[in-house]
Formats: sequence, C-alpha cells, structure tokens
Amino acid sequence: MADVFERILGQPNVRTFLRSVIANDRVGQSYLFTGPAGSNKTLAAYAFSQAIICSNNGCGTCDDCRRIMRRRHPDVRYFAPEGAKGYLVSQIRSIVEDVDRAPIRASRKIYIIDRVDLLGVQAANAFLKTLEEPPEDVVIILLGRTVDSVLPTIVSRCQTVPFRHIPAHEACGIIRQNTGALEFQAVAALQACDGSISRAIEFVRSNERMGFRTRVLEIVHSLALADDLDVLQYASELVKDAQAPLDVVRAEQEKDLSESSEYLAKSAIRQIEQKNKRALSARSIANLHQLTAIVRSWLRDVLIVCGGASDLILNEDVRADIEYAAVRVDVPALVYALHVTDETDDAITYNVSPETCIDVLMLQIREALYGTNSASKAAI
Ligand SMILES: [Zn+2]
Repeated sequence: MADVFERILGQPNVRTFLRSVIANDRVGQSYLFTGPAGSNKTLAAYAFSQAIICSNNGCGTCDDCRRIMRRRHPDVRYFAPEGAKGYLVSQIRSIVEDVDRAPIRASRKIYIIDRVDLLGVQAANAFLKTLEEPPEDVVIILLGRTVDSVLPTIVSRCQTVPFRHIPAHEACGIIRQNTGALEFQAVAALQACDGSISRAIEFVRSNERMGFRTRVLEIVHSLALADDLDVLQYASELVKDAQAPLDVVRAEQEKDLSESSEYLAKSAIRQIEQKNKRALSARSIANLHQLTAIVRSWLRDVLIVCGGASDLILNEDVRADIEYAAVRVDVPALVYALHVTDETDDAITYNVSPETCIDVLMLQIREALYGTNSASKAAI
C-alpha cells in the first residue's frame, strides 16, 4: 500500500503501527517518539500529521498534505529548544497558550515538540497539565532520544513509539536507493547531515550542497599553501556558501506569509514573522554545522591514513589530497585540529558570529597542521 508512511525509511515497525492507528481511527492525543538522531522521527511525525489532517488519510497530494510536507501548515506546529541548553520555561508557556487557540485551516491541530530530552523539570512542569488533558482537537507528538532521557512525568502521560537505530551501512543503502548516489556520496551526505537520512537525501539531490561539500574539501586542502589573506578569503567564501540556502528559505517564508495574510490577524502574522526569524537562525546554525561536519570528516580521513588504514577513507573522491596531507602532518596536530572543530561547533551553537567562528577555525587548522609559516614549510 503506497501512502505517506512509505517515506518513513528504515522503520518498518513504526510504519505498521502508525498505519494501524489511522486505519482503525484510533488516534490518541499524546505520543512520544523515541530513537537516536537519524532514526527518522521528525519525518514520521510529519507523515503521521498528514494522515491525521488529510481527509483522505494522507493522500500526499492534496493542499493540506503538501503544506504539511513543506512544513508550512498553520495547524501543524513544530518546536525545538530555543535556549542554548534546552527549552525555556517562557517558550513552553507560549506553546501552552497556543494549544488553547482554535485550528486555522484543519479540524485538528498537531504539535510536534522536538528534543523533549532537553525539557528541564521547570519547563516540563509548565507543560504537564496540557499534556495530560489537551483540548479535544489537539494531538501532541513529542520527540526524544531515549525513554530514559525524558522525564518520567512526561513519559507516563504519552504513548511511546520506539524507533530503531539505523546502522550506517543500511542508512547509506537507503540513501543510494532513493537517489542513485555513489557510495562515497551517500557516506559524505550522511556525515554532513549528522546521520539524518532524510536530510542526507536532500543533500545528495542538491547540486548546490554537493558543490559546497567539494569546495569545503578543496579549501581545507589548500590551507597547506595559504597565507593569512588567503585563509580569510576562504573563510568568508565558506560562510557565504554555507548560508546560500537561506535565501530559498527566506523566499518561501515570504510567499507563505503573503498567502496566509488574508485569513490571519495582525498579531498572528507577527507571531509567524517571529517564528520565521527563529527558523532562519536555526537553519543558519544547521548549515554551519554542515560545514564543520565536512571539515571533521576530512580531518578524520587524514588521521585514518596516518594510522595506516587508508582503505577506510570516507571521502574517496579526494583520496589524493588526504594522502598529500597525511605525509605532512602528525597525529597530535590532527587531534588538536579535530578539537578546534568541536569548539567551533559549540561557538556556532552559542550564536557567535559565523564570520568569526570560521575565520578562527581555518586559521587554527592551518596553524595546527602546517604551522604559521605554512607556505614555505609545505613547499619543502
Ligand atoms: Zn492529503
């Protein structure tokens, strides 16, 4: 049977369960989807939302289904932690207030609340009553890493739906099946997308993103011969390219807002504008994390070759560059460069300016691998 649940790749049990819930018309009000990053929970939550809201149990083609798939349906709301370390109590309070408002287009409203393992005791307490007795037209889908990482008071109020860990080789197989990508492309996309299969599929399908990956790898290789000015130019180019997809997101947001403005009150429009701004900032952070993930996978490959295991290289298309670096750098330098990359990830998460983060990252990697006077040293 072809339906929206087909898209939940690598999770046959979840598919069967959600299908039976819809087929028997037994949609509950509070679910907790648990599973590691990359197990397709978010995608499953959106597919489930389509099946709940669509008058045809999730046809995938009607206006509601398409809006939900594009994540632009006003009655399917997605939330992720806005604090650096988790949900803010104020954020949860505004969700609780929102739950009481009537749906805009559909007969039901769905709240997808990501990373509930980052819901602290205070924020959770603000949410318990809503979770226990949501309004009749509301379905709440919580997403968390493991049952143990979510507060028991939350777990006990939900029906838990466990997602399995999808092993990397199986994930690559799924990506290749869906895109026709080569093995190293699937591996590279999976690495750049923090193990998320659905994002990796988008990544592989995007010429622009695959081109970005190639350019990041070229630049990291070029650091061996770069002077300070080169490094700063590279960094600014990378920040600009990393953020290129934001223009598309911005244009989509504006289009959706102009489409919805006719049936929305001014206050609701302001809320959507604020939400869009937060979504843009989250997307910007995710794009920069892609950049660091690509750099990390290159450093890891050089380290692997230094350790004599060159058959385990992931970035097969730049094997020659990796081997070039491996004969010029040592293991402590690589370990330090990996550490610097992790620190950059933290700085990005804490909203340090992207330009500063990437400038520092590139300068420090060059310094760690090739020393400050890299141009003359590499030429020897
Ligand atoms: Zn539909």
